[in-house]
Amino acid sequence: MAEKLMLRRTTWQAMRRHVNRRAPQEACGLLAGNNGRVEISLGIRNAEQSAVRFRMEARAQWRAFERIEAAGMELVGIYHSHPNGPDHPSPTDIAESMYPVAQIIWVRVDGEWRARCFQIEGGKVAEITLELITASCINT
Ligand SMILES: [Zn+2]
Repeated sequence: MAEKLMLRRTTWQAMRRHVNRRAPQEACGLLAGNNGRVEISLGIRNAEQSAVRFRMEARAQWRAFERIEAAGMELVGIYHSHPNGPDHPSPTDIAESMYPVAQIIWVRVDGEWRARCFQIEGGKVAEITLELITASCINT
């Protein structure tokens, strides 16, 4: 189980733009990379078009997974927003969690978006560290 998820500030900003654009509906997307490090974020249409739940549009999700595989990456995280809270996974999020990867939840508090990261496994939720890294750290 991952203890932290690393991502660049630019990726964090791209996600924030996406969830802000979709509000007041929930936004959702996939995070791809390797070894707990995010390289790209892929916004996926919320098929529910709901302010209180999300379901990734199936074809868009499929295309995203193809793109991730073609790039030699793997799924390292999922993100979605709670425009009206809470700042943690809802009972539905826990019940419907399908992938054992880090889950970022964006919550809007007083007009500001904040991201928290969790691991949901077997009905249990644990918060993990979301570490912002600079682009220069990416080179390996
Ligand atoms: Zn949720």
